[in-house]
Order: sequence, then C-alpha cells, then structure tokens
Amino acid sequence: MQFENSLAFAQKLDTEDVLNDYKSQFHFPQINGKDVIYFTGNSLGLQPKITKSYVDEVITDWKNLAVEGHFRSDKPWWDYHERLAKPLASVVGAKKEEVSVMNTLSVNLHLLLVSFYRPTKKRFKILCEEKAFPSDQYILKSQVKFHGFDIEDAIVEVRKREGEHFWRTEDILSKINEVGEEIALVLIGGVNYYNGQVFDMKAITKAGKTQGAFVGWDLAHAVGNVELKLHEWDVDFASWCSYKYMNSGPGNASGIFVNKKYLHESDIPRFEGWWGTKKETRFLMKPEFEPIENADAWQISNPSVLSLAPYLASLQLFEEVGMNALIEKRDKIVSYLEFVLNEIDGEVNGSFEIITPNERGCQLSVFLHGHGRPLFDFLMESGVITDWREPNVIRLAPAPFYCSFEDMYRFGQILLKGIKSGIA
Ligand SMILES: *Cc1c(COP(=O)(O)O)cnc(C)c1O
Repeated sequence: MQFENSLAFAQKLDTEDVLNDYKSQFHFPQINGKDVIYFTGNSLGLQPKITKSYVDEVITDWKNLAVEGHFRSDKPWWDYHERLAKPLASVVGAKKEEVSVMNTLSVNLHLLLVSFYRPTKKRFKILCEEKAFPSDQYILKSQVKFHGFDIEDAIVEVRKREGEHFWRTEDILSKINEVGEEIALVLIGGVNYYNGQVFDMKAITKAGKTQGAFVGWDLAHAVGNVELKLHEWDVDFASWCSYKYMNSGPGNASGIFVNKKYLHESDIPRFEGWWGTKKETRFLMKPEFEPIENADAWQISNPSVLSLAPYLASLQLFEEVGMNALIEKRDKIVSYLEFVLNEIDGEVNGSFEIITPNERGCQLSVFLHGHGRPLFDFLMESGVITDWREPNVIRLAPAPFYCSFEDMYRFGQILLKGIKSGIA
C-alpha cells in the first residue's frame, strides 16, 4: 500500500481499521487536557474500561460472602485461575492444560528452572542473548551459582556482529551447535526488549532440542504481540508477564507454559505447594503431594484473585478480537509509523535511525543522533508517552488495540517540530 504522510490519509486508515472502536474501550492518561499518544504498551498496557467491573466483582463478593466466596461467588475464587487458561492458551499457541497463571515473571522463571535447569558436570551451560533483560541475567547467574558452577564458564552469550544492532539466527544456531552436548538450557527473550527483534523461536527451539538441551522462552515482550505456537514448536517451558501488551495492570500475575509431555512426569524436580495438588483431594489436607495433571502443578500458593480479575478482563478482549486481527493491524500501523519516521528523516536528514530489524512485532526502537534526552522530554510535554533507554534510544510501540493511525501522523508532526526547533 502506498502511504501518505497526511492527516486525511491517516484518518482514512482509521476508518478502514476493524479494531478502530477498541480505542474507546481503554482509559488514556491526559496531558494538556488531551488523551496522550501512548507508545509504551510494551511497558505497561492501558487499562481496559471493563477491568474495573471485574475487580469490583471480587471486592463485592468478598464484602458480601467473605470466606464463602471461595465456593459460592459467581466466579468462585478457588478455581478462578482456571478461567484464564483457555483464552491464554490461544494467545500463546498452547493446549489449555499447558498454561497456568501465578506469581510474577522473574519468580516463575526461577521456579521453572528448578525443573528445567538441571546441570551435570558435562552438561551445564546456558545459552542466552547478550545484554538480555537485566532480570534474566540475574536469574541465570544466580541459578548457575546456586548449582555451584562458574558464571564465566556456564553462561554463553550470543553476540550481535560488530556494527549491527540485531542478532543473526545463523549465529545463534551455530553457537548452539558449537556448545553442543554441554548445553543444559537455552533461554532467550522471544522479543528483545531493547531493539524489538523477534527471534526465530521455532528454529532456535529445534536446534537446542537437537543438542539435547531444554529450551525455554521469556515472552514478556512477545505475549499479546507476536504469533506464538509454543506447543507446535515443542518448546519445553515459557513464562511472561501480563502488564505489557496484555493490559492487566502494574506488576500483575504472570503466565507459564509447561509442555504437555512433562505434565505426567511424576519425578520431575519441582518446588511444590498445596495449590499444585489435585483439586478433588486438596482439602483433605493429606501429607502426600498429588500433582494436578496440568501446568497448575507448578502453582505453589493460592493465587491473588484480585490480580487475576484484571487479567481475566483483558483476556476477554483478546478472545473477542483474536491474535490474527491484532497482528494484521500491528503490521500495518508499525509500517505506517516507519513510513512517517522515514518521511521526517527525509526532511531532517540523519537525525535518527531505526535499529529494529525486519523481524519485528509492535516496537520500533529509534536511535537519536544528537537529539537525546531533551527531545524525549519535549515529546512527553507535547503529549507523547514513549520511553527512554540508555544511551540514546526511544522505544515506540503502537499497540494495535488502542493506537490509531492518526496518532502516528500526529506523533510525526510533533517529532518534526521538536527536531526542527533544534532541541538537542
Ligand atoms: C518486563 C520484563 C521482565 C519483568 O520481570 P518481572 O518479574 O515481571 O518484574 C522480565 N524479563 C523481560 C525480558 C522483560 O521484558
């Protein structure tokens, strides 16, 4: 499609957009009395308007029913989390029984590594991307130390090539083959938080498994953003948070995926608690742990129902719309944003550079040459919420649920004004 950098054209794209109405189903912060242009759905998604009623329902049931709410509310609390499994499974391409919701992401990765990082003297290495999200680096290092291995020896980072801003799949695959029988685990962020790159999860999973490693994915930036087929790709495990593209609120509950083939492995190492036992016998308070035959076996505590409620609200929207429609709009709106940026670059040559490769989801990371922090501040004052990553990168994620093509056009005009007025 031939794009045009004009208000009329952007508005025309909005009228053709089947998701156009969803914008009004989210709450937007305001700056200068106007809804902001929100580019940080990759960090904290906006609040759906239906969310409050889901939370109110739990609060009200608690008020009226107290302990009886566990079994007698419309959505009983004791198995409330089960309502999330089906819609979430369809977002991540899993079987319903492979998905559970619990804790938070970094905690879940640690818990999953109890099962899926089992180093031996010969096979103890972990392969990851260089400059992984800091929490992931800390998780991997502390796991390696916990098992008594040396961090330098055990952690193998795949680097970007000199002068390039992205990882090449071929480099990842050849590193996996090179480390070969020493790899215990491959754990990478499915979509890189910094440059927005989508990794070839299918090929990397296959290569890791061919070498006999467990393969897991941190899907923080992937879930609700890109197509996932965790079951089909034969991924061993994965985890994600719910507050980025999943719009479920700050610090909210995380999801996990455990491949079906492990659900009946009775001796799999795992940290266990009462919420992982079979429902039928849970309240008999028996001493034996009888694992429930789905990913809930990894649950330890009874989950916070107050945090499941916004997640369930959000999943209702995902179920209604479906990932295919979101991905279709995502590709179009990101391409339009890229077009707008390139038009501006034509006018103010060399001011910035898009560092996101073609394998991308919703995010464009833009390296600002010369126009650093003050330009970012100018954008914020002008009603554009983006985020800043050192040394000089702004991340722009036009989440397809609630960003419009008109937002992209207006953002371009604001950016152009900022650069032209010499803010540097
Ligand atoms: C956002 C993000 C996290 C956040 O972890 P929490 O445990 O939810 O605080 C972890 N890993 C990656 C790759 C992220 O992008």
